[in-house]
Amino acid sequence: MTDFTMTTDAEGVATITWDVPSRSMNVMSTEAFALLSDLIDRALADPGVKGIILTSGKKDFAGGMDLNVIAGMRAGGAQAIFDGVMQMHQVLRKIERAGMDPKTLKGGKPIVAALPGTALGIGLELPLACHRIIAADNPKAKIGLPEIMVGIFPGAGGTTRLVRKLGAMMAAPFLLEGKLVSPKEAKGAGLIDEVVAPEDLLARAKEWVLSATDADLVKPWDQKGYKMPGGTPYHPAGFPTFVGASAMVLGKTMGVYPAAKALLAAVYEGALVPFDTALRIEARHFTSVLMNPSSAAMIRSLFINKEALEKGANRPKVADQSVKKLGVIGAGMMGAGIAYVSANAGIEVVLIDATQEAADRGRAHSEGLLDKGMKRGKVTAEKKAEVLGRITATTDYAALSGADLVIEAVFEDPKVKAEVTARVEAVVGADCIYATNTSTLPITGLAKASARPEQFIGIHFFSPVDKMNLVEIIRGKATGERAVAKALDFVRQIRKTPIVVNDARFFYANRCIIPYINEGIRMVAEGVEPALIENAAKLVGMPLGPLQLVDETSIDLGVKIAKATKEAMGKDYPDEAVDHVLFWMADQGRLGRKSNAGFYAYNDKGERLGLWEGLAHKYPLDKMQPSLSDVQHRMLFAQVLEAVRALEDGVLTDIREGDVGAILGWGFAPWSGGPFSWLDMIGAPRAVAICRGLTAQFGPRFHAPALLREMAEKGETFYGRFAGEKAAA
Ligand code: NAD
Repeated sequence: MTDFTMTTDAEGVATITWDVPSRSMNVMSTEAFALLSDLIDRALADPGVKGIILTSGKKDFAGGMDLNVIAGMRAGGAQAIFDGVMQMHQVLRKIERAGMDPKTLKGGKPIVAALPGTALGIGLELPLACHRIIAADNPKAKIGLPEIMVGIFPGAGGTTRLVRKLGAMMAAPFLLEGKLVSPKEAKGAGLIDEVVAPEDLLARAKEWVLSATDADLVKPWDQKGYKMPGGTPYHPAGFPTFVGASAMVLGKTMGVYPAAKALLAAVYEGALVPFDTALRIEARHFTSVLMNPSSAAMIRSLFINKEALEKGANRPKVADQSVKKLGVIGAGMMGAGIAYVSANAGIEVVLIDATQEAADRGRAHSEGLLDKGMKRGKVTAEKKAEVLGRITATTDYAALSGADLVIEAVFEDPKVKAEVTARVEAVVGADCIYATNTSTLPITGLAKASARPEQFIGIHFFSPVDKMNLVEIIRGKATGERAVAKALDFVRQIRKTPIVVNDARFFYANRCIIPYINEGIRMVAEGVEPALIENAAKLVGMPLGPLQLVDETSIDLGVKIAKATKEAMGKDYPDEAVDHVLFWMADQGRLGRKSNAGFYAYNDKGERLGLWEGLAHKYPLDKMQPSLSDVQHRMLFAQVLEAVRALEDGVLTDIREGDVGAILGWGFAPWSGGPFSWLDMIGAPRAVAICRGLTAQFGPRFHAPALLREMAEKGETFYGRFAGEKAAA
């Protein structure tokens, strides 16, 4: 174990360097933490050591705790987690007290954290226990505590120390939102103490160690008469902060994220007691969060499996297929977005539309986004020029010559798409991979227009392209391995998350989201209070209710999709009740946000006001309203049963993709870890029982798929059966 090494120089300054072998970023493991503790003991005991610099041998300080370790901690049960966390607190407290006399607070050795770059999670909690934090002025560095994003919270003293350092109000964005900042911003916020030129980092750290006084080592919370900045919960100044924070957090999370609640409890309770007791409280709440299935599922989907997919877990073993020159056909909303993210990733882009004006408009989209970035100080003038310089907007297909990937994003019309395919294939080289961004048309059908169907694939982006991180890659029947590898390598280049699915109507994401929207609309037709529908969805963690979602994506698009689906399905088409509402809304000219009128009312500025009252005239409210959980079950099962069917049908081949894709693609209740994680949480027998009830009341669309029934009989979980996990999530 050589994650940490220590050297001591002639002036008695010990430098402990964190440099995890064979990893590009430092992450903390249990063993490494024990090693660090030993080195600290040695340095504190060595009379020749005057002080300690804690730094990194890499360009960054640390990415955080190894989340696989955190996931593994659960196996030992609550007591083992609590004991492990308390041990960590002891080590960090040892660093903080640094051998000083507990009464006089004198005689400690100064310990400074010198951060060359990014410092996240434990990579900041550890520095927070040191006596000073100095960071290199590295604009690429990110500093913060992102734990909340994966369903936990800073549990190595970060919560308690940050609140005592900054006060609850100022600490809130870092703890509750996982806000990450640059070193300069971190200094401004009081998170760290100094920012210096990168080349001066270690010299300045050493200078500080050699000049630090006893008083410099005593943390405010270890001094007599310490007062928490902004006030404690029962201080007149602190009271509104704590009351407001609870309301704000519940408003934002709807109470479905256990980590947010536990964090608040740790902050509130911790603020009322002495520091060491606060650490114990933090450890207890952290333990309860780790034992909650939601945190385990969130870590698994949003971190471990997301990263595995990004690293090519399902990539065919073919040579590197990185894209050098990309053609994008159709410079509309999607094509322009695809051009932007690609040029931003350093790829040369030829952006083609039917007219020069349309092509230029597509390129101007990138200019607009870059200008926004410049206003926020995230993009320099050089970067803007560089990115724009990579995009050639033209009508001339000959410019595609030399492109190794072409993505088509023209109108959703098979004829137009077929023409474009032929025109592209006439000018590109024989090796070029051709992708379509269609959202509804089966890839196998579109590939018929291609002379090289094995090089034809679906690369389905979500809107807006620059914000949505999921890319759904679709294999047609004839799609070859190199095309899949090309699509995956491209998605890696643009730093998004891929899932690879097989061809079928609506692929995976849209297949699951449409039944969600339809179930909401169907309830409107039945006389369910629209506010109940919308709030029920949000209270179960959906970012948008189904009615708001259809307003955003536009009601006429819904009508178009419904018509096309009906035509394809004929007499089996199950959604007449939905169409009744949808078509009527479209007839009223209520097309959603874009027409300033939909299920919601909007003002002239396009701001959403509230649910449209006129709906009740056409669809009067039923006197007997259903229970909240009935409404929630209808909306959740509409989605998860479709996900199970997609797995049964072989559209999904990996449940990890089903879960990650659901959260990133349509925001499926992130606290649950995704549809399969959620089903594992409630268990197949209970899911089947709920389906039985829903089927009896609302019809066969809720009939439990055979796979789910079989799993219920055998007592299986999805992660047990399909991902080899031993216990349920
Ligand atoms: P859009 O109407 O904004 O853009 C289409 C562009 O293609 C227009 O600029 C048009 O001038 C151009 N075009 C049409 N025929 C052409 C031709 N023969 N040659 C060159 N250019 C041509 O549409 P969009 O929303 O960007 O959608 C494009 C594709 O992406 C569609 O297949 C759509 O289903 C799919 N898609 C859309 C979304 C979405 O949310 N809008 C999401 C995923 C996928």
